[in-house]
Amino acid sequence: MARPELLTPLFRSLRSLKGVGPQLSVLFKKFFATQKEQEAIALDVLMHMPSQIIDRRAQVSIANAYFNSIVTLKLHIDRHQPPPKNRTNIPHRVFCHDESGEISLVFFRSHGNWVERSLPVGEVRFVSGEIAFFNGEKQITHPDYIVAPENFDDLPLVEPIYPLTHGLSSKALRKIIVQIVSTLPSLPEWIEKNRLEQFNWPKFDDAMRAVHTPKNLQEAEINSPSRMRLAYDEYLAGQLTLQIIRSSMVKEKGISRQFSGTITTKLQAALPFILTDGQQNAIKEIFGDLQNKDKMSRLLQGDVGSGKTIVALMAMAAIAESSAQSTLMAPTDLLANQHYKTLKPLCDKVGLNIVLLTGKQKIADKRAALESIKNGSSNIIIGTHALFQSDVEFNNLGLTIIDEQHRFGVYQRLALSEKGKNADLLVMSATPIPRSLVLTHFGDMAVSILKEKPAGRRPIKTAALPIGKYDNVINRLKAQINEGAQAFWVCPLVEESEHLDLISAEDRFLALKKIFGTQVALVHGRMKADEKQQIMQDFQTGITKILVATTVIEVGVDVPDATIMIIEHAERFGLAQLHQLRGRVGRSDKDSAALLLYKSPLSETAKARLDIICKTEDGFEIAQKDLELRGQGDILGTRQSGMPGYRLVVPDIHRHLLEFAHVDAKNIMAQNPYLSGEQGEAIRTLLYLFRRDLAIPLIRAG
Ligand code: ADP
Ligand code: MG
Repeated sequence: MARPELLTPLFRSLRSLKGVGPQLSVLFKKFFATQKEQEAIALDVLMHMPSQIIDRRAQVSIANAYFNSIVTLKLHIDRHQPPPKNRTNIPHRVFCHDESGEISLVFFRSHGNWVERSLPVGEVRFVSGEIAFFNGEKQITHPDYIVAPENFDDLPLVEPIYPLTHGLSSKALRKIIVQIVSTLPSLPEWIEKNRLEQFNWPKFDDAMRAVHTPKNLQEAEINSPSRMRLAYDEYLAGQLTLQIIRSSMVKEKGISRQFSGTITTKLQAALPFILTDGQQNAIKEIFGDLQNKDKMSRLLQGDVGSGKTIVALMAMAAIAESSAQSTLMAPTDLLANQHYKTLKPLCDKVGLNIVLLTGKQKIADKRAALESIKNGSSNIIIGTHALFQSDVEFNNLGLTIIDEQHRFGVYQRLALSEKGKNADLLVMSATPIPRSLVLTHFGDMAVSILKEKPAGRRPIKTAALPIGKYDNVINRLKAQINEGAQAFWVCPLVEESEHLDLISAEDRFLALKKIFGTQVALVHGRMKADEKQQIMQDFQTGITKILVATTVIEVGVDVPDATIMIIEHAERFGLAQLHQLRGRVGRSDKDSAALLLYKSPLSETAKARLDIICKTEDGFEIAQKDLELRGQGDILGTRQSGMPGYRLVVPDIHRHLLEFAHVDAKNIMAQNPYLSGEQGEAIRTLLYLFRRDLAIPLIRAG
């Protein structure tokens, strides 16, 4: 499907525009290019939104022009005072007046006689710029605009100001934008009539004109109908893309599962605790989905320690009752092993056959596992992404569960669900994802949330300390260990780095060993799987008391007796990561503590971030703050997954529009799945505009 002819002017190279030479075009390429190796095109500039607006409409007299205000003055040019020869630090001054008073215009390092030419003595000029004072006199240094009365229209009275890059001037950019906007084609409308009328939105091209060449302040404001419409457009393009990808992947129907309840009832009775309300609710929702004939696509969100694993097990038990298999997929071998170990005793009790499949298994174990997966004797398969290699053949896969979703990219996830075409999908995330992110990244996934933590949990006392207090920390740790406590000690690096001035896990391990002897152990990602396994086991059984680790323990590892979490160089970790790490303690009824050691001095942001972790244990609040401080990419690791950032949307202002875009995209795809006819053509135009045309080949042929 070729790009609509109408859009050709927007896809032309910037070099075809007036004022763009080779130098500027290299700069534009660096600044705008969404895809590497590609030249910047007119569309890239069109999508570049102003970050503020300057109002030059205040045409006041000199007497009424206040300090710091931006004004436009009508001046009579009286006299030039160029700097003495070779005194480049002295400016060129131009003295002017109007009927109310006097002002001077100041130019540093002006070349040639440019100043004389633009401000001829005895004539009148409109001059726009910011009023300053120097020695008690009013002046404007480097006015933004100087125009003769007959060219008054060249003066942008309401001027959008754009984010710039070194070497790109506001004026150069403006010239280009004005050209692009003036040749903007009129595009077919893709927004439903009702939606347009509801908000009184202008057409796309009118909205772009209003934003880039506003006639008044209201037109250009970030919450103007124009900006709202454009933000909605961007959301809509994103939502449509998700819908298209989804419907192309999930063509198959699910299977309506019937279960007897025999295993799940036994299982519930075998648990050493009572399920929380949240867990019961989530299980009910999941069972509902499994019984339904549509394929399940559900996200189970629950903070670290909220007990997602049991919910997963209940779902897998139900699937086993309907004679199908389930897989639980973890992001690391360590976690897969851990899941296997915790679930195995429960499964044995209720007669479920559970197997483990990882990349690092012994050949014989792996062969046995593969065989039982193929012949259907295993009900539950725990593994890593090794599960989705081609040599794995499921007998009858009914349910795929992905744990700790944020480690997997969105597209990876889509590829995974290929393996079990009819299998229901449950994704579990410990990172609480705000609704807006769920929508932008997962489309219409249903969501279950585990809000409360299992009963008996105590809050984790969290404090931040500079590493200078190391001796105090050691003394307190000694006392606690003597009383039987266990501690994690996390460092960001495995070994010493030449480039970063950070203490490594290895160094910290050696230092602590001098004090605590064989009570300390070290685990990191570069160790062999069975070595890691042994060390974790020693720690779990209490043989070792302090576990120095890199972030391999970040997700999922469960050692209920560990009550102390020390994180060194906490300033280097992301908020979500700190929260995850802290969640490794506080898993029993004992008091727990987390200590964030940082290297002074801290930047303001770093301080703010550690503060948040100390103040709250609410994962949602932390996720929100993380979003504000770091942008959305990091929460889901979306940088790897190739989701482009927003260009027109400013989430703080426009977030509420996402819900509308979501609903509308769903309706459009339901009513017109082949995107045919006039509406389909308009939608395709939208997708091209927002560079989502990769999704277009996925649209089903009508
Ligand atoms: P996460 O949501 O982080 O994956 P887990 O499923 O690993 O959490 O559960 C954390 C711990 O809480 C485990 O030791 C688990 O046995 C325990 N747990 C789970 N549900 C409950 C409950 N309802 N009551 C008490 N403890 C529970
Ligand atoms: Mg877990």
